[in-house]
Amino acid sequence: MKEPLKIMIVGSFVVDLMARSETLPIPGQTVKGSFFKMGPGGKGSNQAVAAFRSGGDVSFLTKIGRDLFSSVALDFYHSEKMDTSLVFKDATQNTGIALIMVDEKSQNSISVVPGACSSITFQEITKASGVLKRAKVFLTQLETNLDIIPYAVGKVRENQGTTILNPAPAQPLSDAFLALFDIITPNETEASILSGVKVVNRESAEKAADVLIGKGVKTVLITMGAQGVFLKERGSRSQFFPALPVKVIDTTGAGDAFNGGLAVALSEEKSLQDSILFATAVAALSVTKIGTAPSMPLRTEVDQFFS
Ligand code: ADP
Repeated sequence: MKEPLKIMIVGSFVVDLMARSETLPIPGQTVKGSFFKMGPGGKGSNQAVAAFRSGGDVSFLTKIGRDLFSSVALDFYHSEKMDTSLVFKDATQNTGIALIMVDEKSQNSISVVPGACSSITFQEITKASGVLKRAKVFLTQLETNLDIIPYAVGKVRENQGTTILNPAPAQPLSDAFLALFDIITPNETEASILSGVKVVNRESAEKAADVLIGKGVKTVLITMGAQGVFLKERGSRSQFFPALPVKVIDTTGAGDAFNGGLAVALSEEKSLQDSILFATAVAALSVTKIGTAPSMPLRTEVDQFFS
């Protein structure tokens, strides 16, 4: 294994507050719940944890409040031994939260309040300039304020770092924003919204990828859940990487695991194809455990897949 090069992740931290009840409450109704769990979440944070645990040299930039929930982030990062020097604190906004209600059939209703992580400032990105310029791989998502992203990408590009966008949660984006990235990693829903082509199989994935490449992206990777990953690079034939057969316990966070793993393998200068295989293994291992951040596998577990 080569010495990993720097990975910079800019993204969200939110506290997941999950309550389980027999049925989901309808408007105006209160239902009695049977189980409650609180834990670290947010796509940026989950991806940073996945990358860190699977062997990456990760810097994670996010923003939390100065409230009770900020310690959920800091306690978790300290227990993981992750660097918190780019976890900024906002005096006026709360730490982000996600209120997740789950019923017995595992259907859910979620309200996310991004709070502090939607007010990352240009000054905070400037403070991270040194790391951004050293980054071999830059990874971000759509849960923070997006105005700072082109500025951050500009710094990464000064040193020819690879830029990855996981365009989640699903939302339309301008062509100029998409063209900032070398690689985008939508799931089927996100690919459908970005391209206007409903993605249900390889054929429709190919059409959607062609639309996205036409918007200026070089490489499109569409994650298709238990099926696997569709890859299309500009000017090349498409490829498909089947998901690995594992005992599935909980698929939440599979996409986050995949993105974190992809960043790690690329930072080790693996080929794109080998990086997808590595990320597929990280994602497969994550679905064998309950939870998001806590289900991310360690490097030793990932390496066992390939030994
Ligand atoms: P998201 O969580 O963003 O919707 P996906 O569901 O597409 O992302 O999952 C991302 C990747 O995780 C998939 O491309 C696949 O490699 C892996 N994965 C997802 N579900 C499973 C599963 N049931 N078994 C094995 N791997 C899975």
